[in-house]
Amino acid sequence: MTYDRLVCANCAAPVSEGRCPVCRANRERMQQENFFAGLTPTTLIVLLAVLVAAVALLAHQTV
Ligand SMILES: [Zn+2]
Repeated sequence: MTYDRLVCANCAAPVSEGRCPVCRANRERMQQENFFAGLTPTTLIVLLAVLVAAVALLAHQTV
């Protein structure tokens, strides 16, 4: 969220402007981190549900 205030060490321009490859890489990485941070609770719940379903299926098959 605050990455648009960051100044690039390579070109000394705001990273959010994406003037050089370093800027663009940083911007992309931070956007991905934000994306995954926002997804994490939902992803955990989905993974847990899938795990429970898989265990239930396996239990049914072995018994
Ligand atoms: Zn840069």
